[in-house]
Amino acid sequence: MRTVGLIGGMSWESTLLYYRIINQQVGAALGKLHSAPLLIYSFDFEVIAELQRSGQWNRAATLMAEAGSALKAAGAQALVICTNTMHIAADAVEAATGLPVLHIADGTGEAISQRGIRTVGLLGTQFTMEKPFYRQRLKERFNIDVLIPDELERAEVHRVIYEELCKGIINPASKAAYHSVISALKARGAEAIILGCTEICLLLEGNDYNGLPLFNTTLIHAQQAASFALTDSPVLEPV
Ligand code: GLU
Repeated sequence: MRTVGLIGGMSWESTLLYYRIINQQVGAALGKLHSAPLLIYSFDFEVIAELQRSGQWNRAATLMAEAGSALKAAGAQALVICTNTMHIAADAVEAATGLPVLHIADGTGEAISQRGIRTVGLLGTQFTMEKPFYRQRLKERFNIDVLIPDELERAEVHRVIYEELCKGIINPASKAAYHSVISALKARGAEAIILGCTEICLLLEGNDYNGLPLFNTTLIHAQQAASFALTDSPVLEPV
């Protein structure tokens, strides 16, 4: 198997999910006591979140690249950035390390395309929803049109991520708020929803909401990592 380096801790709540899913996938593929060769660099998330809040994206990208280089030195053959938002630094990490970064939007775009879906709603941090890096990649590489919630809804989706989900808090009122945002996106033409933050699957479980497919980026991305680790990549079953 090949060794995957996880750049995680953003937040650790979702890195935990990656660790479990990747190992489950490898165990399911290879049987016996097999598990994935993984290296994890787990950030103190407050440091990253403060750089996000203050718009210091270059500094954040430098820290991501340093983490990637440390993982490379330890033996990583590919990198997985365990957050949608910090894929804003994916190109910088790839350039600095020379390692492939398994991009979360690519796995997600592929999964959406395979279902023949062309218009999706995106939930994530305000950075992921509002900045071009994520939506543009889906459009340019997969010709997927991305709808985002309105301004007040975006603020609420963002708040729930940082004030609740990244701290492991699951609040039924927030679940209801997310459901109403999803319904509004559906009314505007979304054929599916991207759970474009790696903690949202803690709040919204399952593969659909009222018949609308939900694309869980944590699961998709962890499957990309497992596929990479499994050199002879057998077909992976959903966890
Ligand atoms: N894990 C989240 C994401 O997938 C949010 C935390 C972050 O800003 O990295 O975007």
